This record gives sequence, C-alpha cells and structure tokens, in this order.
Amino acid sequence: MGRSRKQIDELIDEIQSFAELTHHFDRPFRTFSSGIKTRLGISVATAFKPDLLLIDEVLGVGDVSFREKSQNRVKDLIKTSKIGNWIAKGMSNFDKTTNDFSSITHAMHVDAHLVGKYFQKVTLRNPNASLIDALVVDAELDENSYIKNIILEDGQKIEGDLFIDCSGLSRLLMKKMPGNDWVSYMDHLNLNSAMPFILKYEDGEFPEPYTTAWAQNAGWMWQIPLLDRKGCGYVYDDAYITEEEAQAEIEMRLGRKITPAKTIKFTTGRQESAWINNCVTIGLSSAFLEPLEATSIHSTVVQIKNLAFDYVRDNIDDTLNQGSMNIYNQRTRKMFDDLRDFITMHYCGGRTDTAFWRNIKDNVPKPEFVSNLIEMSKTRMPTHHDFPTYYGSAGWPLYSYVMEGINLINKDVTDKELELKIPNVDNLKDVVQNDYVAYHTEWYEELQNHYTWEEMITIFREERDTQ
Ligand SMILES: Cc1cc2nc3c(=O)[nH]c(=O)nc-3n(C[C@H](O)[C@H](O)[C@H](O)COP(=O)(O)OP(=O)(O)OC[C@H]3O[C@@H](n4cnc5c(N)ncnc54)[C@H](O)[C@@H]3O)c2cc1C
Repeated sequence: MGRSRKQIDELIDEIQSFAELTHHFDRPFRTFSSGIKTRLGISVATAFKPDLLLIDEVLGVGDVSFREKSQNRVKDLIKTSKIGNWIAKGMSNFDKTTNDFSSITHAMHVDAHLVGKYFQKVTLRNPNASLIDALVVDAELDENSYIKNIILEDGQKIEGDLFIDCSGLSRLLMKKMPGNDWVSYMDHLNLNSAMPFILKYEDGEFPEPYTTAWAQNAGWMWQIPLLDRKGCGYVYDDAYITEEEAQAEIEMRLGRKITPAKTIKFTTGRQESAWINNCVTIGLSSAFLEPLEATSIHSTVVQIKNLAFDYVRDNIDDTLNQGSMNIYNQRTRKMFDDLRDFITMHYCGGRTDTAFWRNIKDNVPKPEFVSNLIEMSKTRMPTHHDFPTYYGSAGWPLYSYVMEGINLINKDVTDKELELKIPNVDNLKDVVQNDYVAYHTEWYEELQNHYTWEEMITIFREERDTQ
C-alpha cells in the first residue's frame, strides 16, 4: 500500500478494533472467511484516509451495527477527504493561471445596486441610447389601445413604438392595457410578507461561498453573503405571525439584534399576458413568485433574451405580429407556472410543528404536476424526461436537490434503480460511481490552480477599493 512500517504500526490497533477481530487477528489471512476478509479490507482501506476511495457493495457486509459503522466512517471520510476538504474550506473557482473563473458551474451573488450602475455604464456606450432620470406619471393610448407616449413629471412626452414596462409591482403601463388580467398563485403560494435586513460582517469575517435558507415558524429565512454584508430576510404568511413576532423570531434565531428595512407586502401571481399590443412587461411587473430560489432575476433574464433574440424584428410591424406575441405570451405563462410548481415543491416536506406548516400540509393544495411527481416518486425515480427542458426551466437537477432535502426521494426505489443492468455496459451503480469518481478527480486536479475562497475575496475587495 506504499506505507512505511511505522505508519502501519501506528494504525494497527485502530484497524484491529474497527474490524472487530480481536482474538482472530493474528491468524493467517487465508484462514479468514470471506466476510471477515471484507471487514478487514474496509478497516484497512479507510484507516489510511485515502485521497480516493472506490467502494462498491462491500459496505453491505456484516451485521447491522458493522454496516452502520462502515457507512458512518465513509461519510466521515467524504467530509475529510481532499475533495470534501476544498468544499468545506471554501476553495474558490477563481483560477490563478488565467485570473478568471474556471469552468466549474456556479451561481453568483450579485449586488443589485452595483450591477444596475454597471448596466447603465455599458448601455450608455451605445450612441443610440440615452438616459432620462424622471418619474413617469402617465401614458397616452391611441384609439386601438396602443401606447403613443409616456408622460414625465415635468410634462415631457416620450414617443415610441414598443414600450417595456419594468416599473416593478406598480405595473405602470400594463395597468392601462385592455385585458391585463392578473392570475393569482396565492392558492398554492400563500406567503405574502418579507422582512429584509442587512448583517454587516465582523472584522476579519469572510462571506460564506453559498446562500443559506432555512424554515422558520411561519415561512423561511434567507442569507445571501455579498462582499461586505449579508442580505437577509424572513418571508412569512402574516396570518400566522405579526411583524414584531417575526423580528423577535429572527433575533432569537441569530442571537443578535437586527434593524429590518420596511416590510414588503406582496401577492404571488403573473400577468395573464405579459405582452399586450405594444406594451411588454418584464421583471416584477410581469410576475412575482417569492424570493425563494431567486427565480425573479433568472426569469427576467430569460424574458429579455426571449424577447430580444426571438421576437423583436427589425421593424415594428413585423415585431407586433399577433401570432408571435401570442406564442411569446404562451412561453412566458408556461415558464412562470412551471416555476410556481418548483417553488411549491419546497413546501411539501410535511412539517407539522407550527400552525403555519400544518396549514400548508393540510389545506394548501399542491399544483397537479407537484402532486403527480410526489406520487410517482414512491415507486419510480424521476428522470429529466419528466421535467420541462426549455431554456430557463427548472429541470430535474434543481428538483432533485429539493426533493432529496425534504425526504421525498424513496431510498428503496433509488437502490432498486441503481441495481439495473445496462446492456453491454455494467451495473448502473458502478457506472454512476465511476462517473462520480472521474468527475471528482478531474475537479480536484483543476482546483490545484485555484485561489482559496478567502484569497479570492481579498483580491476582489482590494480590486474594488482601487476603483
Ligand atoms: C424581499 C425580496 C427579496 C428578493 N430577493 C431576490 C433574490 O435574491 N434574487 C432575485 O433574483 N430576486 C429577488 N427578488 C426579486 C427582485 O426584487 C427582482 O428580481 C428585481 O428587483 C426585479 O426588478 P424589476 O426591475 O422588475 O423591478 P423593481 O426592482 O421593483 O424596479 C422597478 C423600478 O421601476 C421604478 N419605477 C416604478 N414606478 C415608476 C415611475 N412611475 N416612474 C419612474 N420609475 C418608476 C422603480 O423606482 C424601480 O426602480 C426579491 C424580491 C423581494 C421582494
């Protein structure tokens, strides 16, 4: 095994005791039964804390307590292996050799104010773009209910062919359009209040490289670490908790006082049609689910991309083709309804510890797709074919984390499916394991060129301070 005699001697007692072979230990190896050989094998293989450990069903040998012991040891190893170590220690995906992010898939926490400033700077580099910073007070429509112009606070009128309503929840322009019906999601997504607040870092504190979200008595809380502060909040149903009680619950949970910003009241739902005549809603003016999973900026980006690349033509008449507007609306409806299902799934863990969670479990109906998915998972593992797969949709990879997290994945079913034989390949379990090992080896090698998370944050903070 490439270990020195001294290293082996140091671990011999541990190996012997883990394998539970006290009085047989000195017997020749060939005299052991296959079960005892396997126990010894697991004990030796895991005692050395290997960089890479390939395991198959050997973890199923022995009595229940030995099986549990072996599985726990492997779980510990995963936590302390080199691979687990970089995650736990927060290695970054910022590459020292290229001074850029490597290809590892990642999501970003962005500071909305800074991003807004950046977009403004980039947009204004285009000589055809101009910025008017003013309050819009009204819009004039022609006889066919097309917007002719918007009216600013100082009376100035701005004409246009196509108007994007990005006025957020006020839906300033869309409100004036005929047939601007609102489809409520409150039947399925009944939270209606958000108490945002900010936490400053202590001296020397670094942001975590992930978002944290957890269930509360009447909803859930989020913590999104940025470079200099954490954006936090409690999203709740005000039928179950008052503002004062919500703040007290947060403070008890965090063990510190907070200064909440103004509590935001919202209703979940979407426009029946995101595009009517020459007015298109984008962002919050078009739909609002709730902050869970940050679907809002995601769906905003999808809407902008769909509109700009697929529907806006080089002249206004072709752009306002009713057929393509209808199809754009259909796509947008489907996206939000699918995202609603995805968010709803988070609440289906069956908690009963507070009145809020009991109400969700007993009285809040699940959308059809969610009910079917939960039912199906009792006997069959979902696959990506069961989920929408268009650009911007929430597919099986996203659902899988959520369903696993709230115990909706049936372990007996997954075990059975992993035993499937794939013709001319192998046992599915081996294939999955081989892929898992191959990916992790590759990622580990790639990480050798990476800054640690703390190094990367320090670089970014310095870079920002010099600008
Ligand atoms: C508590 C909470 C937490 C959230 N967290 C996240 C998250 O983590 N990730 C995520 O993706 N999304 C999050 N969202 C959603 C996020 O707010 C939206 O994605 C984003 O702000 C939508 O941008 P928007 O431009 O559509 O609307 P808004 O941000 O509301 O912007 C609308 C703009 O229109 C302007 N406006 C309105 N009326 C007028 C007028 N008459 N004249 C001129 N200007 C006007 C407003 O001043 C405002 O600047 C959260 C939302 C809430 C409520």
